[in-house]
Amino acid sequence: MSRDIRIQDTLTGEERPLEPRDPGKVGIYACGPTVYAPVHVGNARPYVVFSLFKRFLEHEGYDVTFVANVTDVNDKIYDAARAAGVPSEQLAREMTARYRSDTDGLKLGRPDAEPLASETIAPIIELIGDLIDSGHAYVAGGDVYFDVGAFPEYGRLSNRPREEMQQGEDDATSLKHHPQDFALWKAHKEGEDTAWDAPWGRGRPGWHIECSAMAEDILGLDFDVHGGGSDLIFPHHENEIAQTEAARNEQLARLWMHNGMLQFGDEKMSKSVGNIRTLSGALDEFGRDALVMYFVQGHYRQPIDFSEQALQAAARAVQRLRDFGRRSSPAHPEPEAIGPYHERFFEALADDFNTPAALAALWDWVNEGNRRLDAGEEVGAGEKLREMLWTLGLDNLLEADGAVDEEAQRLMEEREAARAAKDFATADARRDQLAELGWQVRDTPQGPQLVPLKT
Ligand SMILES: [Zn+2]
Repeated sequence: MSRDIRIQDTLTGEERPLEPRDPGKVGIYACGPTVYAPVHVGNARPYVVFSLFKRFLEHEGYDVTFVANVTDVNDKIYDAARAAGVPSEQLAREMTARYRSDTDGLKLGRPDAEPLASETIAPIIELIGDLIDSGHAYVAGGDVYFDVGAFPEYGRLSNRPREEMQQGEDDATSLKHHPQDFALWKAHKEGEDTAWDAPWGRGRPGWHIECSAMAEDILGLDFDVHGGGSDLIFPHHENEIAQTEAARNEQLARLWMHNGMLQFGDEKMSKSVGNIRTLSGALDEFGRDALVMYFVQGHYRQPIDFSEQALQAAARAVQRLRDFGRRSSPAHPEPEAIGPYHERFFEALADDFNTPAALAALWDWVNEGNRRLDAGEEVGAGEKLREMLWTLGLDNLLEADGAVDEEAQRLMEEREAARAAKDFATADARRDQLAELGWQVRDTPQGPQLVPLKT
């Protein structure tokens, strides 16, 4: 933990140091999806950003707990379930499973905790009760609303005039006293098929309160990093701060880290071409490697275009890395010259998790390594290269393509057997087949080894 890690904090508008509440440990909470339909490719961005940010912190020696919630009780879920003619619980369960398998396709591991709103009802009711007791919330009908007027600090995160703060809720049927107030609990309505009992009546939680309750339940108060898409700054995160800080009189989170949105300007991507805008569709179309590369090519805070061109550029970058991985054999030692590139790479990540700057350091090494290989030097792919790629979720590029590998391995064994039997015609035929797959056999003290043919 020698490196100083700095993050652009949305709350203060400044780059601030990561100073964990518990030395050596970092707690991250990033808001996850509402599960009413297969997740959008845009939902993959916070998933990728915070999964990789966790990897970086682990590389720096921290013990990281990454929490990403799943909103499985919500108006959108009721509406979608009604339209599909299935119970909302069933739809939410199916879409949660689908979300998990789609994000599994990114092969970045799972968050450490993925709480469901429907399984956090007791802490939610307790937190709402505390807000009513402290005078920050009121009951109206069977609803409970947060009284924004009772929390003078409201608006600090999104930093906008109070009269411009529209909660975006359905005000037509709302019983709230003031337009800026927001629902903590919604009384059970005809046609909603899930509800829980609470001291102020049967109903279900609002969206914002679930995150305050889950984050406190798992990470405690004053945890280290709260993340999510920049579209959540207002009202969702503003309301999370209000709820927690009004009830507990303690800070919710130390740093607020928001990722930019995906933009669908590209003609082809804007039209609904198949299901390319869902995560599973994007994975099918471009593959996991190109998609992860696409995300790390952009700085997490910037909006990025989701375009054919951008994804093709990412696919080419993946191919360049894979080629370099094939040329630089793990059998050789890694040149010491990689050291400064490795250092630059991790310094870039320490400076507001700047993945494009880190990638630039990696490319400089790849170019240098390729120059050395062209000059006949043996360049090993060792720990330092692997650490860089692992932190970007791309260390799999160092493994040669499995299918080719197995086939090549079999051909090499057949060639060795033919040579041992002095069947040189077969041995030559196997050598030619290997060459077609891009491999040659090199005799080493450890026995014959497959190395990529020079391209
Ligand atoms: Zn949230």
